[in-house]
Amino acid sequence: MPTSWSDAARITVSRSPSFKQSSVAIRRLRKEFGAEDNRVVAIEDISLDIARGEFVCIVGPSGCGKSTLLRILAGLEKQTSGTITVDAKGWPVENAMVFQDSGLFPWMSVETNVRFGLDTRGVPRDEADTRVEAALKLVGLTNFRNHYPHQLSGGMRQRSAIARAFVTDPGMLLMDEPFAALDAQNRVILQAELVRLWEQTGKTVIYVTHSIEEALLMGDRTVIMTAQPGRIKRIIDVPFPHPRDLMQLSASAEFGALKLDIWRVLEEEVNRARAEMER
Ligand code: ADP
Ligand code: MG
Repeated sequence: MPTSWSDAARITVSRSPSFKQSSVAIRRLRKEFGAEDNRVVAIEDISLDIARGEFVCIVGPSGCGKSTLLRILAGLEKQTSGTITVDAKGWPVENAMVFQDSGLFPWMSVETNVRFGLDTRGVPRDEADTRVEAALKLVGLTNFRNHYPHQLSGGMRQRSAIARAFVTDPGMLLMDEPFAALDAQNRVILQAELVRLWEQTGKTVIYVTHSIEEALLMGDRTVIMTAQPGRIKRIIDVPFPHPRDLMQLSASAEFGALKLDIWRVLEEEVNRARAEMER
């Protein structure tokens, strides 16, 4: 039985290898929607290896298939062809998803929301208590455990969603523009918190965003996708060491230069996506 959650609450800087981490091998993934005249090829020929404990960001123009790729990884959608091999040992929950909208149950308190996935899986009460406690602490919501979603700010709701995803110790965390709906200040705060969480836990994270800046601030690698059908256009190794101070990093010349380089790669695809929409 994993004991990592009770440890996690105490660890502040060092990464804990006791958290579950999965590696992922994606091979020649393709997804079509509809048939004949209505056929849309959402993603095409995507092959990608993600290592255990890696923080990978996926960037691409709107409609390029980012959410589709993530939903297939989460098992919410079935690919048309190609394979995904996920290696996650131990704890049976292989992944957890965090969306732009927190998706919390409005009739449940924060604590009950966070606990829900453990209850439905029949996790013993004592272990569930320990895990919920550690998850709330990890995202700084201990004092808000009895609040309901409508009583929370957008940032707190997303924190709750992250706690709910973390509580099952999934092999990987799949995040689909989780901070896109937040105001700029809250977004910066939550980005820093997520990076801190990742630095602490070493959890495999696949993070979809349309923001180059966000991808470079947080990830180890940035995967740039083409406009629809989404293919991998370029993979960038992000050279900035951890632990990162995101504010300082975003103000550095090196960061600015890399951001511009990547924008040049992405710009063409964004224009292509726009032209397609205006056709
Ligand atoms: P992104 O997240 O990058 O904005 P999506 O993965 O949501 O892109 O969508 C990729 C393409 O697939 C879009 O053209 C979209 O309209 C299409 N698509 C997504 N889901 C469905 C669906 N359930 N039925 C039909 N088409 C879909
Ligand atoms: Mg999307």
